[in-house]
Amino acid sequence: MLKINRRKFVSNTAASAAGLLLGNSHMGSAFKERSLIPDALIPKEGLMKEVMKYPKIDSHAHVHIGDRTYTDKVIYYADKLGISKLMISRPISTVSEATPENFRKNNDFVIKCMKQHPDRFTGTVVFNANYQKESLEEIDRCIDAGMVGAGELYRQVKINDPLYYPIIEKLIDLKMLIMQHSVVGYSRVTWHSAEPKTSSLPEDFADIAKRYPEAMFQYAHIGGGIDWEYACKTLKDSLNVYVDVSGSNNADNMINFAMRYIGEDRLLFGCDNSFYQGVGHMFSAKLTDAQRRKIFFENYNSILKKSGNHVN
Ligand SMILES: [Zn+2]
Repeated sequence: MLKINRRKFVSNTAASAAGLLLGNSHMGSAFKERSLIPDALIPKEGLMKEVMKYPKIDSHAHVHIGDRTYTDKVIYYADKLGISKLMISRPISTVSEATPENFRKNNDFVIKCMKQHPDRFTGTVVFNANYQKESLEEIDRCIDAGMVGAGELYRQVKINDPLYYPIIEKLIDLKMLIMQHSVVGYSRVTWHSAEPKTSSLPEDFADIAKRYPEAMFQYAHIGGGIDWEYACKTLKDSLNVYVDVSGSNNADNMINFAMRYIGEDRLLFGCDNSFYQGVGHMFSAKLTDAQRRKIFFENYNSILKKSGNHVN
């Protein structure tokens, strides 16, 4: 993720600022900005009461950093914020070869975490579409082990590459969502040098969504440092693309902008492990109670319901 102007970030509301304060131990460098938060913005009991009022499914979570597992810490934050269910995955980094052996290992890790906390963690399967046959087999293996969708898929293959076609068709049959990482640097200023050209752009999602209107896609983390205005505008008419609002770059007005273009039925709450910001910006956004309920919980649960994996 790229850095943003943190001063602008904290200038918004009490709820966002609360994210910086309460999430400090999880947020590394952001903690250094603590002095920018006026005392008046420290959350009162009332805000946390409001936070706990809403059931939540985190549509974008991970329980590892490198080779370190930190399930307990994730559950600790989830408990504090009333997140009952977290959709977890262990993506295949672009720098690795992303061989079948690599992705099976990553999925095994997720299956192990699901077994440890079956009521809290639900997994989604990762693979590399360059190994199409092995990817299709891996989907079967992981669905059998209790996973309920695909992702977070990384940057080895563009989402609209024909290599994906049989994979997407399989997920259509399964009535399951496909979540793919989006680029970080695209059109933010210039293409970020760390991004391979096989990264999926917003228009690649729009393209594949049009080809497969019955498929369901999750455009990952508009708070991940991307040009979210461009992404939202590009995906405006892609009605089978859901957009998750996770990430550590919670720019002022991002959710309200996304509401204008994507709307309350296609936005998904998620943190991508920036837990307090992820919840905080849902409260700094101008949302009605009903809209907040949809984004926090109902939209994702409706997706799960299609495959019979809903929470209630
Ligand atoms: Zn990502």
